[in-house]
Amino acid sequence: MSGKPGNAFDRRRWLQATLAAVFAAPPPSGMLQQAFERAMAAPPLPEGTEGRASAVLLLDPDSGRVLAGLRTAFFFGPRKPCGSLIKPFTALAFLLRHSPADLPRFLCPPAGGSQGDPCWNPQGHGLLTLEQALAHSCNSYFRQLALELDPADFARLLYLFGLETGADEFPRFDSFPGEEQRRAMTGSSPRLAVPPIRLALAYAALYNGGRLFLRQNPEETSAARSVYMEAASLAVIQRGMRLSAQEGTGRLAGAASSSRYVKTGTHSLREGTHRLSDLEGWCLAVDRNPAEPLLVMTFVHPGRGATEAAPLAAKTLAVYRRLRPARRSE
Ligand SMILES: [Zn+2]
Repeated sequence: MSGKPGNAFDRRRWLQATLAAVFAAPPPSGMLQQAFERAMAAPPLPEGTEGRASAVLLLDPDSGRVLAGLRTAFFFGPRKPCGSLIKPFTALAFLLRHSPADLPRFLCPPAGGSQGDPCWNPQGHGLLTLEQALAHSCNSYFRQLALELDPADFARLLYLFGLETGADEFPRFDSFPGEEQRRAMTGSSPRLAVPPIRLALAYAALYNGGRLFLRQNPEETSAARSVYMEAASLAVIQRGMRLSAQEGTGRLAGAASSSRYVKTGTHSLREGTHRLSDLEGWCLAVDRNPAEPLLVMTFVHPGRGATEAAPLAAKTLAVYRRLRPARRSE
C-alpha cells in the first residue's frame, strides 16, 4: 500500500485524503451518528462523567473529517485554555534547536522543596527524560525546559501549527509578561487559549505526515498545508504519547490497545486551586490502527484529564469501532 514508512510524505495518500475531505459531508449526521449518540449515552458511562458537561469529537486524522461526536459545536466555538495538551508543542519548539539525541533530563522533586510551584504529583516524578515527562505530564520538567526555551521559538511553533493567539480578544503570546510566557509553555497559564478544533488538527498533523487541516467550522471543507517536522523530533513526541497510554496520565484512554497514543490536560478555572469543581479536563487520543486511524478529543467540566476525560476517550473509540462494521455493510 503505502510505499514509505513512518511519516515520510506520500503524495498519493495525501491526495486521497484531501479529496476525501473535500467530498465529505462535514457535520456528523445520519445513522452512524445516531447510533453513536445512543451507544455513548448507554451504560456503563465512564466514571465521573455522569451529570457533567462533556463534549466529544472524533476525527479521521488523515483527512480532518469529523466522523462522529457529542456537542461538537463546542470544539468549533471560542478559544479555551487546554492545560497540558500544549506540552507536546512546547517540546517540539525545544526540538527546533536541540537534537533529539541530546535532550535534557530534569529532576521533579517531592513537594515542599524550594523550586516554586510543585508538580501536580506531590511525591515528585524523580529524574525524567522528555518522553517520560510527556507521559506523566510533569510540570516540574516542563518548567525547567521552558527556562531553556526561547519564547520566540514557542511563538513560531504556535504559528506553524495554527495555534497563534492575537486574532481576537485574546492577547498575543509575545505580549505576555515573561513569567506568564514560561507558564504558558507548561500549560498552566489561562491566557494561552486555543480554538479546540485547531488543537485537534494540530495533533492530527503529528500523526498524518505533517498535513495541517485548516477547518474552522463543521461546514467548511478542509484545506491543508504542510508542516515540516524532523522525523526524529516527531518520534520523541510519539514515544511520549505512547508511554502516556501505557503507564502515564493517558492510561485510562489507552492501556489496553497497542496502537494508542494519548495526551491529557487539566485546566483550573481559579488560578492556584486544584479542587475538582474548578477543573476542566481534556484528553487527546490517537488510535493508529492501520485499517482506520482515529483521533478523539474529549472535554469534561468539571473534571480532570487523566481521570475523567481519558475514560471518555476510551469509550468513544470502543463505541465507534463497534459501530463501524455495521456501516460498512449498509
Ligand atoms: Zn513531576
